[in-house]
Amino acid sequence: MTDHDAARGFASLVVHAGQSPDPATGDVIPALHMSTTFVQDGIGNLRQGYEYGRSGNPTRTALEAQLAAIEGGAHGISFSSGLAAEDALLRAALQPGDEVLLGNDVYGGTYRLIARVLGPWGIRLRVVDMSDLEAVAAALAERLAKILWVETPSNPMLKISDIAGLAALGHDAGALVVVDNTFASPALQQPLALGADVVVHSTTKYLGGHSDVVGGAVVTNHDALAEQVRFLQFAAGAVSGPHDAWLTTRGIKTLAIRMQRHSENADAVARFLAGHDRVARVHYPGLESHPGHDLASRQMRGFGGIVSLELADGPAARRFAESTRLFTLAESLGGVESLLNYPDEMTHASVRGTELAVPVELVRLSVGIEDADDLIADLDRALSAL
Ligand SMILES: *Cc1c(COP(=O)(O)O)cnc(C)c1O
Repeated sequence: MTDHDAARGFASLVVHAGQSPDPATGDVIPALHMSTTFVQDGIGNLRQGYEYGRSGNPTRTALEAQLAAIEGGAHGISFSSGLAAEDALLRAALQPGDEVLLGNDVYGGTYRLIARVLGPWGIRLRVVDMSDLEAVAAALAERLAKILWVETPSNPMLKISDIAGLAALGHDAGALVVVDNTFASPALQQPLALGADVVVHSTTKYLGGHSDVVGGAVVTNHDALAEQVRFLQFAAGAVSGPHDAWLTTRGIKTLAIRMQRHSENADAVARFLAGHDRVARVHYPGLESHPGHDLASRQMRGFGGIVSLELADGPAARRFAESTRLFTLAESLGGVESLLNYPDEMTHASVRGTELAVPVELVRLSVGIEDADDLIADLDRALSAL
């Protein structure tokens, strides 16, 4: 990133950061470099540092520069999935015996990775309500943790945690503060500027934005940690392929405008649901009744595209999830098209029966960028048919 980039607004940054025209060809769009290997002009004499596709690729470099710039970090490191990014970060930062303090409402796969993959290698896990600073302070006073893992807004309950407050608590206790910024995206929330040490992403969601590429990222200002993560990217090998990197870069260019529309549509949908007599509860930080509304108003530049609702009981929630037409029943989120999911049996099946279990009455909506009236009509019809 140049000094010019740093001074620009976010919508300009997503379009231009890391995307200078190619000096040799004039390509305005970064080229898709498919080559797995690069010519050496004499042994070890590399043209631009590229040697082999796992250690580096120019299309991936363009994505990584863009990722670093949009999160305001010095280092962007991309991976083949969000979980691959999390895995590399956790292995770079932790030693056997270290503990992670995890929010009690996080992406189920994050819990599964720490509990079931890293657990057998000696990584310990404690769960706390991250939206409650006093509970986090008490947990840290009881026993130190090496990492505070924060997801805000959280998945699927949309709880809001105070990033600046948690960064202060974590740093006092010597913990690394990690924020999974997948739900908000840097368009709406900038965790590094609020004091977090590391941002992780499933770029599969809003950054890619079109439900056509799986990927992940780690962004940080800590040089030594970035070097460790980059070493694992190379040495363990969960790299983004060139085509994946290229698609993700293309998606990011429209992030600012998409997040604005996702937020507007989600707000309209949340207000419609809050007024519907078949709906028991609506979870959306943009609603004044949401317990994290004031904090979200300070910490975020928009409330995002995810809305969760609770119906009368589990069977009603399942029926509703199976009866929309414009909202497609599918896992994942953050694409331009509206999706809905029944977390208990879909995205959060891996945390059933754990401290992270989600209500059986819950349905999660990923509100897309279609016409809000069409989305509301679809939900209205499905609710009326219950
Ligand atoms: C999807 C998701 C992940 C995992 O990312 P993958 O790209 O599916 O590996 C992590 N965190 C959050 C909040 C997610 O929604």
